[in-house]
Amino acid sequence: MGRRPHHPQGNRVRSLTMAKQTNRNLKPATRVVTGGRRAEWTGAVVSPPVWRASTHLYESTAALEQGKKGNADGRFFYGRRGAPTQWALADALTEIEPGAAGTVLYPSGVAAIAGALMAVLKPGDVLLVTDNAYDPTRSMATGLLKRFGVEARFFDPLDIDGFPDTFCDRTRAVMLESPGSLTMEVCDIPALAAIARDKGAVSLIDNTWASSLGFTALEHGCDIAIMALTKHVGGHSDLMMGSASAAEPWHSRLRQTAQALGHVVSPDDAALAARGLRTMALRLKQGTESALRIATWLSARPEVARVLCPMLPGSPGHAIWERDFTGGCGLFSFLLADADDAARARFIDALELFGIGYSWGGFESLAIPFDPAPNRSASPWPPAGWAGDKALGIRLSIGLEDTDDLLADLERAFAAMEKR
Ligand SMILES: *Cc1c(COP(=O)(O)O)cnc(C)c1O
Repeated sequence: MGRRPHHPQGNRVRSLTMAKQTNRNLKPATRVVTGGRRAEWTGAVVSPPVWRASTHLYESTAALEQGKKGNADGRFFYGRRGAPTQWALADALTEIEPGAAGTVLYPSGVAAIAGALMAVLKPGDVLLVTDNAYDPTRSMATGLLKRFGVEARFFDPLDIDGFPDTFCDRTRAVMLESPGSLTMEVCDIPALAAIARDKGAVSLIDNTWASSLGFTALEHGCDIAIMALTKHVGGHSDLMMGSASAAEPWHSRLRQTAQALGHVVSPDDAALAARGLRTMALRLKQGTESALRIATWLSARPEVARVLCPMLPGSPGHAIWERDFTGGCGLFSFLLADADDAARARFIDALELFGIGYSWGGFESLAIPFDPAPNRSASPWPPAGWAGDKALGIRLSIGLEDTDDLLADLERAFAAMEKR
């Protein structure tokens, strides 16, 4: 066994990486299908087998000594460094992130954000965080990172002109997110990332909403692209995972830090994530289409003050979305007009096809209420000019149900909201 660390038939099976080498211009939808399917990892089967392994058995002490030397991805050394199932998934994610040298996997999206920030920051550094960041990112910056001597400062992601002034000589990194969690601002990432680069700071982006299929973050100037694979890549609400992709030298720094922190994902979950990835392009396309239809319908409802859906013409940020993104997804928000907490609760509680719960990107529709104001410090919520909006928000994750049924469910919920 020790002499054959990988699939015994590996050498005899035609490798799909040959297709990769002969045609570098494969479209993203093709790359989600072919990515990571190297013969030495998958053998003669289509999907990567589940390699449940901690220990690599060696033939001799000499072979053990030799093993330490070639201790890179793609050579099985010890379970914490991953095995073919995890490498196949990481490789596939790298394939769909143009500009990336590699991808590191983490046990959750939050772990990916923590791992990436710890790879770039040291005590005394200042971290700039977009004011529309995912709430746990915000808490991490003001909590955990503060304990390690990093100072977090928040900035308004829509104020490009003011952005250069938020830097100081200790600013080491900028944490971006677009569209923003819950509030869905689409930010001018190329402009923000270019300013960060100019100032000598590393830019990281939480690209969970669009995924690399909808927004090629590294090509648009970011240094590290992070995704919660829990959402679109998993796609079935049955796993937790995160990833960070980057060019060198950041990829190596991410990998070293993840190994130092002991981050590893289970091969079972990696196989599930790889399975989800194969249908992601299709699911995102359907999610975009259904969300756009529902967002359009909501924007004509008298109970709705504002729809926050990047794909919807007229919605805030639509022009930048159209300029920079190649796709959307089923996640968007809307604000109720003249509603109070009780009315909003009546609306959500009346929904039958939408589950009430966190996370998103699964095949099933979900709804949650949100009130972002307490999590803002650098930009007003609701934004200036939106006066009159009470800004009672609802976020919808549109699943793969028939859109007609979802619209009927929403219609019923509006009726329940009006009833007292
Ligand atoms: C869910 C989410 C995460 C975190 O992912 P987990 O796998 O739940 O830790 C990070 N960023 C965004 C934008 C998310 O929606």
